[in-house]
Amino acid sequence: MDNYYVTIGLEVHCQLLTTTKMFCRCKTDYFGKAPNTLVCPVCLGLPGSLPVLNEQALRLAILTAQALNCRILPRVVFHRKNYFYPDLPKGYQISQYDLPIGVEGKIEFDFKGNREAVRIKRVHAEEDAGKLVHEGLNLPFGCSGVDFNRCGIPLVEIVTEPDLHSPEEARECLVMLRNVVRYIGVSDGNMEEGSLRCDANVSVSPSPEKMGTKVEVKNMNSFRSVFRALRYEVDRQVELLEKGESLYQETRHWDEARGITLSARGKEEAEDYRYFPDPDLLPITLEDSFLKEIKAAISELPLTRKERLMIEHELPENEANILVQDKTLADFFEEALKEFNQPRLLCNWMLTEVLKNLNEAGIDITESKVSPQQLAELLRMIDKGEISGTIAKGVLEEMFTTGLDAREIVSKKGISLISNEKELEKVVLEVVEKNPQSVADYLSGKEKALHFLIGQVMKETKGQANPEIVKDILLKKLASEE
Ligand code: ADP
Ligand code: ZN
Ligand code: MG
Repeated sequence: MDNYYVTIGLEVHCQLLTTTKMFCRCKTDYFGKAPNTLVCPVCLGLPGSLPVLNEQALRLAILTAQALNCRILPRVVFHRKNYFYPDLPKGYQISQYDLPIGVEGKIEFDFKGNREAVRIKRVHAEEDAGKLVHEGLNLPFGCSGVDFNRCGIPLVEIVTEPDLHSPEEARECLVMLRNVVRYIGVSDGNMEEGSLRCDANVSVSPSPEKMGTKVEVKNMNSFRSVFRALRYEVDRQVELLEKGESLYQETRHWDEARGITLSARGKEEAEDYRYFPDPDLLPITLEDSFLKEIKAAISELPLTRKERLMIEHELPENEANILVQDKTLADFFEEALKEFNQPRLLCNWMLTEVLKNLNEAGIDITESKVSPQQLAELLRMIDKGEISGTIAKGVLEEMFTTGLDAREIVSKKGISLISNEKELEKVVLEVVEKNPQSVADYLSGKEKALHFLIGQVMKETKGQANPEIVKDILLKKLASEE
């Protein structure tokens, strides 16, 4: 395998977050809706109906191309891509051909300690097709249903140049693409629900000078399946070449359950689609001012944000990376930071305790009952010595289930830190008497013994003592023993 050069290029479709479809006024929130309830003569392609371009879809497609550093072509032209398939009632898809919205872009991401740049070949806008339904409809054996709700949902298609050289690298590139579309708010990028779909082209070659014959793999609906499908396909292709067989250009489907790819069809060439400019949609000239206005909406992108978090808040790269992978997590962090300005401590709490609670509830941070301000308040209480870290973990758990403030939970449960010195002195005295060996160890220079003694006091007080005060009292007590 090491004697082969792997080449991968991605084609990614993202559903754009518009409220209505690309060329009609039908709603786009089709997920979970009854089949064929979000349709009209335009998206069903009935004779005599005419498409009208949704400006918001155009804006979001342009924004995507801009965020991927593309050169924006001054004229938008839509073409008809003709093919026959039961989920495409018009018999053609409105797409773009030789004049996409953006060309010659790039996307950057960090991979194995290096900053990689993958060239973006093109970004274009097109409409989605419907969906065949094979299960759950109570249809006669051998029949399938077709749901046109998805017909005409606006998509942006992003095509990379073949600059990727391993399944891992392809996955990282896809993760970054997903994050970029989420950051700029053009798509929710959800692979499971099909709002982000990735086709991967892959070839292997014995020489780095000449790329091999590419195979297109479809039907992956998670980052993991993109990775597995590519790894499987690389192995399969190498094996064939090793046997002296040759590869031909084809489309293959990933079978998730069996972990293999299966040949679907030979690859169509552009001429098979008989592209021609859609006579119903006139070309649009993009004014500079319009492009500038759209570009102004580009928020900070994940890589820049990661670097800023590392510099501004001195977060380690790994931690900063986990935060920015999920924009809403990083937003939560920065909101909480406004009211509790200890970035490393806050970050630790987010990446351990907060994530743990979210995982246990099976929700993401946007569904959390705990607000950034509430988390900040809890951490301030620890910081002021009002409760210990151990207690705070339990309090946070309750905050997650009840949505109550830390302070309410603490007073309701009668939890408070014992910082009354008289009371603590009593406990310290007891612990010192019960542990003469540790006291002797400490006095003979073993620092560790002190931690043990503090631990014993914390245990006696069920974690409700303020460890800083315990330490002070202990040190005073031990000094008097010398
Ligand atoms: P087509 O004209 O067949 O659609 P393109 O040149 O537009 O081919 O490329 C389609 C996708 O395939 C792109 O993502 C590109 O990066 C990728 N690709 C092209 N050639 C190869 C190859 N030899 N091996 C792997 N991927 C490739
Ligand atoms: Zn419609
Ligand atoms: Mg396409």
